[in-house]
Amino acid sequence: MIHPFQLRMIESELSDVVGEAHVLSKEADRMVYGVDYMWLPRMWVDRGLVPPLPDMVVLPASVEELSRVLKIANTYHIPVTPWGGGSGSQGGAMPVYAGITIDLKRMNRIDEINQNSQTVTAQCGVNGYELESSLNRQGYTLGHIPASLHSATLGGYMACRGSGVLSTKYGKIEDIVLACQVVLPNGDIIDTLPLPNHASGPGLHQLFVGAEGSFGIVSKATLRIEKIPQERRFQACLFPSLSDGLEAGRRIMLERLGISVIRLYDERETIKQVKRILGISLEGGNYMVLGFEGRPDFLDIQEREAMAICEELGAQWLDPEAGWAWWNKRYNFYFPPHCLDLPWMFGTMDTLCTFEQMENLYWTKKRALEEKYSKWGLEYIAHFSHWYPYGVMVYDRFIIQDPPADPEKALALHNEVWNVAVRTSIACGGVLNEHHGVGLKLARLVREQYGPAFQVLEGFKKATDPVNILNPGKMGFGPTL
Ligand SMILES: Cc1cc2nc3c(=O)[nH]c(=O)nc-3n(C[C@H](O)[C@H](O)[C@H](O)COP(=O)(O)OP(=O)(O)OC[C@H]3O[C@@H](n4cnc5c(N)ncnc54)[C@H](O)[C@@H]3O)c2cc1C
Repeated sequence: MIHPFQLRMIESELSDVVGEAHVLSKEADRMVYGVDYMWLPRMWVDRGLVPPLPDMVVLPASVEELSRVLKIANTYHIPVTPWGGGSGSQGGAMPVYAGITIDLKRMNRIDEINQNSQTVTAQCGVNGYELESSLNRQGYTLGHIPASLHSATLGGYMACRGSGVLSTKYGKIEDIVLACQVVLPNGDIIDTLPLPNHASGPGLHQLFVGAEGSFGIVSKATLRIEKIPQERRFQACLFPSLSDGLEAGRRIMLERLGISVIRLYDERETIKQVKRILGISLEGGNYMVLGFEGRPDFLDIQEREAMAICEELGAQWLDPEAGWAWWNKRYNFYFPPHCLDLPWMFGTMDTLCTFEQMENLYWTKKRALEEKYSKWGLEYIAHFSHWYPYGVMVYDRFIIQDPPADPEKALALHNEVWNVAVRTSIACGGVLNEHHGVGLKLARLVREQYGPAFQVLEGFKKATDPVNILNPGKMGFGPTL
């Protein structure tokens, strides 16, 4: 616990680095940085409570300033929480031990778009939409298009190992990043090797992709980019059963057709969400969107082969407009009036496993949650939207429309539901999470996922951040010493 008087002294040191206007300590400013997109802090605020706030917020404009801020924090053993766009859903940017929140949005320069090698180098605080628009103006795309495009930053994409709607073709962010610059907790600025496909030891850059700022703050990254596709096509169909849809997706992926989108909705989500949000009249079945992009002659083959596979499994084709409707309205699912919102309790429990295990995972998890929480009327809905040549991700969500009014009881129920969900995923061969990260929400479960292997991450943390100033309480690491 730092005495308020010393905090004021530190504030003046920080002001010397970033300028007085870029150190915020008024309560109204700090309130903004207490709430990310996790359900818990939003619920607290909704019920008149105050979430944990940082003691101050610092906005560096360069990697040198960022380095000096970390040196100061390290000297005084002050917790530091990186903040990108605050759109993370796991509480990763919540300053649970107070201290300094570092808002990285002033570090938003795009250094280079290299057309020869098709790479972009940009600072971590660049907004996703700004980055994508700059690339689009030169005929390129990052290929990473999350639903949080408008609110997230490049650093946040990387910190959470995020995924975009075209990941089935272009990969997740960890596949797209080639190299990064990181500021370590002691303020040292390091660069990983310039390219990922080397044989000079393990890929150091991957230690920082997904680390949620626990090992260092990503200040800059180089990523591969793609040409804007010549053509984009969509098809949509209904499968008689989820099983048929999953099998179609599996066969398409194993054929390595290079398809850009496969989105398969379970029956509940098909009826509830697809009909309501896309306005497509469906009474049942399992809605699937297929997306193709690239050279038209390649698309002819992809489309023909993928459709033949679907037909073998009983797909009924809808008008292609039913595929375009999803693409054109894809953000609507995440914003009012369509998104899940308070006072409901809800969460996305996405996980990934092999084709072999997915169907069992889906049904086991659905049953476990719906049966155990039937008195709360828990609803389970899911779609499958990030596909790999070995397995698939399920984007499954729970919804409780009438959770306990008492915040303590609501939190207890919330944690219990998450425990059941994640433990069931892991027991059925899945991972803790596929693309939202660990944050505060799942920190208590991360050791269960890793087992004895967690000591490797812990050892790295101890070596680079011995007093644990960086994002304490996240990723299964403890408080600042
Ligand atoms: C409407 C909506 C839709 C979403 N859709 C998607 C989606 O389609 N795909 C997807 O993957 N995710 C999605 N998300 C969640 C996703 O986790 C975030 O959008 C994104 O990855 C976080 O970026 P951010 O800049 O907002 O990070 P923040 O929320 O600010 O931070 C997230 C974590 O990263 C850390 N961090 C931030 N910047 C850095 C940095 N430079 N170096 C080190 N650590 C850092 C923070 O400390 C925190 O732990 C969605 C969220 C919302 C609200």
